[in-house]
Amino acid sequence: MQYHTLLHVISGYLYQHYNALATSSQIEKEHARLELSFSPEIIQEIPFVQLEQSIKKLLAQSHSVYTKILSRDEAEQKEGTIKTVINLLPASLNEIRIVQINDIDEQACGGTHVNNTTEIKNFSIMKIQNKGPMKKRIKIQLLD
Ligand SMILES: [Zn+2]
Repeated sequence: MQYHTLLHVISGYLYQHYNALATSSQIEKEHARLELSFSPEIIQEIPFVQLEQSIKKLLAQSHSVYTKILSRDEAEQKEGTIKTVINLLPASLNEIRIVQINDIDEQACGGTHVNNTTEIKNFSIMKIQNKGPMKKRIKIQLLD
């Protein structure tokens, strides 16, 4: 739950500030990783060395995590990455579960989350790899 919610926060933050789109994520026992694609003009400008501190600051601000059910019509009115995700859902799905972390992230998601960002304990960014000119892979680890 902590890893999953943390991935929401990181991808939401990078979307809001740098228009990054999360393309895949994976959660293992001891770490998690997230792949994002950026526009080539922006990727060079992003202060990745400060990312860990920026995310920690955001988590400490105590943002609530909400879920709500929207009709597909309502969900399709939304802007941003959420639209892409909803377009990929089966057409037979009429109700869509939305997860919102205050103004940080809003996604269609069926996963389990913590209730507040302060429940995510200390973490570190283990490494950030280039995956081609427009993609980065971010590997994170929760610390005890
Ligand atoms: Zn989720």
